[in-house]
Amino acid sequence: MIISMKPDARREEIEYVCERIREYGYKVHSIQGEQRVVIGAVGVGDVTACLESLEALPYVEKAVRISAPYKFVSKEFNPGRTVISFDGLTIGGEEFVMMAGPCSIENERQIMETATAVAEAGALVLRGGAFKPRTSPYDFQGLEREGLKLLAKAREATGLAIITEVMSDRDVDLVAEYADVLQIGARNMQNFALLKTLGKCGRPVLLKRGMSSTIKELLMSAEYVVAHGNPNVILCERGIRTFETATRNTCDIAAVSVLNELTHLPVVLDPSHATGKRSLVPPLARAGVAIGADGLLVECHPCPEKAVSDGAQSLDIAQFRQMMRDLQPYLELWRASRIPEPAAV
Ligand code: PEP
Ligand code: MN
Repeated sequence: MIISMKPDARREEIEYVCERIREYGYKVHSIQGEQRVVIGAVGVGDVTACLESLEALPYVEKAVRISAPYKFVSKEFNPGRTVISFDGLTIGGEEFVMMAGPCSIENERQIMETATAVAEAGALVLRGGAFKPRTSPYDFQGLEREGLKLLAKAREATGLAIITEVMSDRDVDLVAEYADVLQIGARNMQNFALLKTLGKCGRPVLLKRGMSSTIKELLMSAEYVVAHGNPNVILCERGIRTFETATRNTCDIAAVSVLNELTHLPVVLDPSHATGKRSLVPPLARAGVAIGADGLLVECHPCPEKAVSDGAQSLDIAQFRQMMRDLQPYLELWRASRIPEPAAV
């Protein structure tokens, strides 16, 4: 069960509701959201009687039974859409959010050149890794704090918002100082200590699907972040491991629609990691827009053949511009599909 209190509910009213829920045999977990307190109740008891008694209280906004194992992120809890705001942008609503930039931040010239170019081409968010999860310990591990400072410089120069990965709960505060959105990589989707810390980080989180994770597991991980106090989670499909070797990962494009059926959270597609191959990025980007993703996360580098990571899947600047031009008719249809229906007269 989930019980949303009215925004003006008083402390003693919230406490009274918690007491009533406990009396029915449930454990209580309450979360202070931006506008209201939301109480989650788990356990075995008489759900119908409990819901009826709570709904009768004037300071309870809504009391609902949720059958999915993930509660706060489910459509049962919120049949609408979560629209997340950061740095003057919104995601999940009427704005399509293109996030683009290099896999890794390498030096000032590289990140500034990329940031300027992707901003001019219509991107709203700059991506770039300062903490890099690399398969080999001998590969480039990222510029860490220096990289974050370069991202801040690029934001200053271009007005782009910043998304960057955080790999450890120890670095959450540091990364949150610089980033507008914290990216959780595929390898950390089930790092539960990190997910719990993100509940308190005060920034939106983009949670990538683990490379061998089911959609349900992705939603359970999102539930960790929300249940620990942060409702602003963006989900990202970035391809999964299958028997297929023609692409780096298999792009589970249907996951975007499946997620739209199961959750109210925004969903974005990363066609770069999903394919691993530059030539496949623009067609998959089109597919992402057409299927109703809220945004895209695309790797772009001024000189991909010299990139320290993921060069083969990075577009160069001219290719990024071309992709943006080619996406325009699809984006027009996307925008038309998001305009709310006029009220019937
Ligand atoms: C990345 O975005 O550069 C990255 C490491 O992605 P993923 O976690 O999806 O592999
Ligand atoms: Mn990458």
